[in-house]
Amino acid sequence: METKQASTRAVTGNILIVDLNSGETRVEHPQPDTYRKFLGGQGLGVDYLFRNMPAHADPLGPENILGFLPGLLTGSSAYFSGRYSVVAKSPLTGTWGDANSGGFFGPELKRAGFDAVFIHGKAKKPVYLWIKNGEVEIRPADKLWGLDTTETLNALKVELGDKSLRAAAIGPAGEKLSLISAVINDYGRAAARSGIGAVMGSKNLKAVVVRGKGKIELADKNELLSVNRSLADRMKKKPSSFGKMLGVILQPILPLLLRRGGMPMPDVPTMVEGFGKHGTSMLASGSSEMGDMPIKNWSGVGYRDFPMRTRSSKISDENVYRYAKKKYACANCALGCGALLDVEEGPYAIENEHRPEYETLGSFGGMILNDNIESIIKANGICNAYGLDTISAGGTIAFAFECYEKGLLTKEQTDGLELNWGNHEAAIAALEKLAKREPGLGELLADGVKVAAEKIGNGAEQYAIHVGGQELAMHDPRLNPSFGTTYVTDPTPGRHTQGGAGFNEFGLPLITLPGIEIPPTPRREFSGKGKAHAIGSKAVETMDALGICEFSSMAGEYPYLGIINAATGWGITAEEFLEAGERIQDLRQAFNVREGFKPSDFVLPARVLGKPPLETGPNAKVTIDIETMSNEFFREMQWDPTSGRPSRSRLIELGLDYVAEQIHA
Ligand code: SF4
Repeated sequence: METKQASTRAVTGNILIVDLNSGETRVEHPQPDTYRKFLGGQGLGVDYLFRNMPAHADPLGPENILGFLPGLLTGSSAYFSGRYSVVAKSPLTGTWGDANSGGFFGPELKRAGFDAVFIHGKAKKPVYLWIKNGEVEIRPADKLWGLDTTETLNALKVELGDKSLRAAAIGPAGEKLSLISAVINDYGRAAARSGIGAVMGSKNLKAVVVRGKGKIELADKNELLSVNRSLADRMKKKPSSFGKMLGVILQPILPLLLRRGGMPMPDVPTMVEGFGKHGTSMLASGSSEMGDMPIKNWSGVGYRDFPMRTRSSKISDENVYRYAKKKYACANCALGCGALLDVEEGPYAIENEHRPEYETLGSFGGMILNDNIESIIKANGICNAYGLDTISAGGTIAFAFECYEKGLLTKEQTDGLELNWGNHEAAIAALEKLAKREPGLGELLADGVKVAAEKIGNGAEQYAIHVGGQELAMHDPRLNPSFGTTYVTDPTPGRHTQGGAGFNEFGLPLITLPGIEIPPTPRREFSGKGKAHAIGSKAVETMDALGICEFSSMAGEYPYLGIINAATGWGITAEEFLEAGERIQDLRQAFNVREGFKPSDFVLPARVLGKPPLETGPNAKVTIDIETMSNEFFREMQWDPTSGRPSRSRLIELGLDYVAEQIHA
């Protein structure tokens, strides 16, 4: 297939369009200014889908378009730049859908010759896509259908005779159209949210397989290496002995400090050392104590129901680390927050499993009062193998536990499982049923809490913790209220990684940019956060579209402008950086407006709002004023608070005339 190199640096200039109805493929070449406007990843994705997909398409029908897109910098040598996005209309929420993942698939896709692959239509039989150095083949996948994601990747390596290929695949959950299914690459990196795996399953597409040796041209390779080097030097600094000593001194009163609002954040070298060793598992135990991790399906209090001294410490970073066999780092990562684990024996024995992230430790830990770490590692393994979102799957299991406790699910309906809080054997058995969509409990839970609650009835909806159909991430807005704003205002509802001011309230801002002042965001105040939230929201859209990992923030200020300009030669400023994110965010929002959604469709469950408030714990007596926070954010974004529509004039200023024409018609 003929491809060409774009004049724009850092990209291939090629977009692959695949029509599974006809089996035809073709290559398009975007204008260079398209990259500057939308960068890559979900940015390029939302531009393409808005232009090419009809409104109100069935998310599981052939009209939905599925896109795989490395970030703008993915495939370059920039540190932390290995991520890619998967985009589609979400079958879980009916809204704009995207999810992203690290590992090695994204850079390999770029080296194989493409900045994006868009898949239209539906194959008559299971197929996979094989992309190698610009050549594209749609191949039968009958023999792969039914395999889990590890078996699939291994079988592909044998069939194609290439041990180094990379694949993004679905497991049986995606094949069976589970609305909480994920796309998995590299044996356990997941593009998990938005139910994106089901879109792949609906197209009879088992995997996108890539291999490439193409070189990505950069504007100034030496400058990029030099910016990388400065970042690496900063990360190599040793933590101060004072900081270490302070840590030792404070250890005995750590639970108390956490309950009183947390500890001061450590300096960059200490953070790099801790995060490099433990990844996000670093947060687990402390988060439960301080009121960040939701407990007992969001009804509990960490320090009372899952206390650090006796319970949550069993799922702490050091306890997870006991199973670590080797370190894991995504492509071009200078930090390497991952690890591969072995549980050598017992009912939860598993080999080479990716370390559970904090979100998984929360969703299969505190959410069901489970302190059995081996069962959580196993749950992570099941989700990766079957292709499930661990946040949604864990949230759904916790919902089932509460329904069982409240008598809304009988033992007959749970296939004989006793879903009592802390019963990890029952949780794993229920998860396996969910993953396989087994008749009975599996079928009931396979599409997440919203669908399950509708099937159960009798008031089960009050225990279904979701926004717009998507289960909430493991960050409680009663502690850091701006997570609530993100859950209800982001065009992919219910997600924590979509920026905003939640991480600022936590003391861990995801992005800082030279010359951009971010107003303070005191945790317990609800007013005055709109600007900080808007900056955070725009900045994360840019970060994702660049393909940069959000955990780069652990190493202090990431040199975005230096890296982008060295890679592309554009000379962009911090203002343009934010404007690109705003353009992407406006387009994601416009997608939802065109689908008929409005802000009132996205509601935080009463329990999460603090209605009624908790009586004890760090979040006692907190009720969130979500209206004020959301409306201030909408004002900053120039979105109408009633219709959600981005203003016509701002859309035109951002070069989105074609969007303004459609949603302001
Ligand atoms: S910090 Fe972790 S998730 Fe991010 S790129 Fe590095 S290894 Fe991957």
